[in-house]
Amino acid sequence: MSEKHMHWSEWLAEKVIQEKKEPYVISGGMTTSGPAHLGTLCEFLFPSVIKKAIENRGKECKFYFVADILDAFDGVPVEMERYSKELGPHLGKPLCNVPDPTGQSRSFGDHYLDEARALMVKFEVQPEIIRVNEYYEQGKFDEHARFYLKHDQECRKIIEETSGKEEKKDWSPIMPICEKCGRIATTRVISHDGETYEYACDKDVKYTKGCGHGGKNKIADHRYKIVWRLHWPAWKQVFGTTIEGAGIDHHTKGGSEDTCKAITLGLMNREYHIPYRYGFILFQGKKYSKSKGTGMGVRQMVVLIPVEIIKYMLLRPDLEENIDIDPTSQNLLRTIDDFQEAGKLILTEDMSRADRKRLIAHNMSTDKPKWAVPFLDVLLYYQIYQDWNEVGRLTKDPEGANYLKQYVEAWIAQEFIPEEYKFKYQPNTKPATENVTKFLASLKSGMDALAIHNGVFEFAKANAIEPKQMFAELYDALISKPKGPRIGKLIDALGVDRVKKDFGV
Ligand SMILES: [Zn+2]
Repeated sequence: MSEKHMHWSEWLAEKVIQEKKEPYVISGGMTTSGPAHLGTLCEFLFPSVIKKAIENRGKECKFYFVADILDAFDGVPVEMERYSKELGPHLGKPLCNVPDPTGQSRSFGDHYLDEARALMVKFEVQPEIIRVNEYYEQGKFDEHARFYLKHDQECRKIIEETSGKEEKKDWSPIMPICEKCGRIATTRVISHDGETYEYACDKDVKYTKGCGHGGKNKIADHRYKIVWRLHWPAWKQVFGTTIEGAGIDHHTKGGSEDTCKAITLGLMNREYHIPYRYGFILFQGKKYSKSKGTGMGVRQMVVLIPVEIIKYMLLRPDLEENIDIDPTSQNLLRTIDDFQEAGKLILTEDMSRADRKRLIAHNMSTDKPKWAVPFLDVLLYYQIYQDWNEVGRLTKDPEGANYLKQYVEAWIAQEFIPEEYKFKYQPNTKPATENVTKFLASLKSGMDALAIHNGVFEFAKANAIEPKQMFAELYDALISKPKGPRIGKLIDALGVDRVKKDFGV
């Protein structure tokens, strides 16, 4: 099968198996410096499905998720603004050395790492999570730091050539952590002999300033971090990466992917892993902004829809496509419906590419579908009966209805239900019209939704009424609204006998 015909997780898995030797390792990571957004999910979701696709082909694959919390704390996220006073003095320090003002986690970087960790559990993704500061403390990056210091002029040349930007005169492969103030953002290396280095903490990085301290340290003391463009190729050696992806911004001309490749092949003389790139995750057409935050976050979204649906939204498009998430209730209903339809497809050789992608995205989103009943039916039945046992009985999917319970209740509580699906059965709030009474009287026990629906058209025709008019009168009589769920479905859900009784026909 050609690459074009497969879901991206499939062709990447094929590529790994064809081009690389075992053991297979997929790595990925991020700096956890603010609340999780949809892009955060991709950082662990995408590697996890590639791992799964490799495993589906009978091979083993390890997945390391690198939490880059030795990076500098460079800004207070909006939701932490109330702690600005406590956090301010820590700007410029590594995230893992900034206290968590909420007291929940062992550091500020861990606060958001723990949030990501909880999301991974919810999304059933189980990578080995690496707090990169521990790897530095254990000296796992030391040989790379020494190598880069030894070749610092070549490193600099490669970075300048691949980034297209000239570095400052005092550029260095490493960023020392100041022994006096603890900052990493404000230091610079003055001189080094490959092991020992002298540094000054005197940089002004706008959001904070150095303390003026000057000191001397050794690589073996593990009080440094390698600069990003060299840290990234180093971690691939540390973990033995076979495949790793990054957002399209790293892959543009001048991006860190070019540097990583040139360092690995040209300076380290090591084999290069398989890189892949993915598009931006947009929210209502806009890029996520760390300082502002954008629209509905992941936290709100997991309350409204099952994680399977969020996974499906992110896994269905082509890998390099920008994914625009617009979580209106209408769009979410459409996606839930599409997800359920995709689950009914059967994998065949000659199915269309679009269907194959939908089916694989569905299967990568869930091991076993947790509900079978259409989401809209559950919404309908619950609004009528307000009783989950009854909903389970009527939908003939009690487990599924129970699984969807928390979401439906959230839709109601947050008034998220689209207007046309929002209703309350309230018969006889006013006298029914003659048309309504006559029509309801014509219904027979045991008629299903479709028969009732067709019955409206037949009745309208026989009585020379516009069907539109007939529907409007029925909605008005049943739910006191001009519009609502499909009449056949609604009367069926209410029960023909019950409606007839309520209207005395
Ligand atoms: Zn300092």
